[in-house]
Amino acid sequence: MNAFTYATAHSPASARQLVADKGAYLAGGNDLLGLLKEYLVSADILVNIKSLPGLDKIERGEKFWTIGSLVTVAQIEDHAEIKETFPGLHEAASEVASQQIRNVATVGGNLAQHSRCWYFRHRDTQCLKKDGDLCYALNGENRYHSLFTGNTCISPVVSSLATIFASLDATAIVLRDGQETRQNMAELYQRAWENPLAHNSLKNGDLILRVEIPTTRSRSAYLQVSDRHAFDWALVSCAAAADVVDGKLKSPRVALGSISPVPHQVETANRFLDGKVLDNATATQAADMILKDAKPLEHNAYKVPLAHALIRRTLLKLKGDA
Ligand SMILES: Cc1cc2nc3c(=O)[nH]c(=O)nc-3n(C[C@H](O)[C@H](O)[C@H](O)COP(=O)(O)OP(=O)(O)OC[C@H]3O[C@@H](n4cnc5c(N)ncnc54)[C@H](O)[C@@H]3O)c2cc1C
Repeated sequence: MNAFTYATAHSPASARQLVADKGAYLAGGNDLLGLLKEYLVSADILVNIKSLPGLDKIERGEKFWTIGSLVTVAQIEDHAEIKETFPGLHEAASEVASQQIRNVATVGGNLAQHSRCWYFRHRDTQCLKKDGDLCYALNGENRYHSLFTGNTCISPVVSSLATIFASLDATAIVLRDGQETRQNMAELYQRAWENPLAHNSLKNGDLILRVEIPTTRSRSAYLQVSDRHAFDWALVSCAAAADVVDGKLKSPRVALGSISPVPHQVETANRFLDGKVLDNATATQAADMILKDAKPLEHNAYKVPLAHALIRRTLLKLKGDA
């Protein structure tokens, strides 16, 4: 680990000033400390943001709920009203890592966590994500990698919260150049779709302040499959959210994680589901649409039927049948 200075910020503006060009924000430290120890990230200053006021709260509103970026994953998991109002968010939070990690992992850090690609994580491998010339996973060990990508890096986004937030059409409020900007989940990861060097769309110094979740979708569900039951990332995750009026879906959204550098969403499938009464045939048709353009590689073709089953099961969970 390279030497760094350490400072605690007490306002977002001072955090931004302290982090300057070569620093990093430190929240729960679950991802950042590993990256520093493996020389995958270097920072001349770590700015502890855990003392920023007001960002550790979950606030309930009529039109939307606000979740501060310092709220821990465990706070979400344990929040009785979240469990009732956004059951999919509760389910996604409870699938993250282990209880010990959830106790300290924050929403901001979860969304901004770096790629889990083992070539990226190997300190001696100069892959595309580290400005090298080659994606070693493309013709190598790619069982955990993407079915979709917009560039030559096939590392997928693995944040469970990003998947459920995408289905709930949540917006991240990001402090950028002194201004609050709004990015939905597609926007928050768009740069990773386009640029192999990027893990998300955050620029150096951008600070996620909070996430806003509209209350328009009364039902939500989340499922993931992992190699291990706990303490593991998803091989594939799926989230769905919708309102249900007279038994018909209204404003449905489906999002998948661990299969693309962005939470994978297909607008034609969302439109197809709108106004439908959910049954197995409809859920199957939606799954076909969502996975139509998948490009499996040598070792990750298993993700296609896995994702297909998860989409069907998650959608049927919306009506309580799964
Ligand atoms: C064994 C294991 C299993 C895991 N399984 C899962 C899983 O199933 N699903 C899942 O989603 N995650 C999983 N994780 C990842 C874990 O959830 C993340 O590492 C954690 O959420 C990161 O949060 P943190 O607060 O510790 O972030 P930190 O490590 O402090 O920060 C992570 C990154 O985010 C940046 N950052 C932090 N806060 C902000 C902010 N407010 N604004 C801008 N940038 C910020 C930091 O600078 C750093 O680059 C797993 C981790 C482990 C070790």
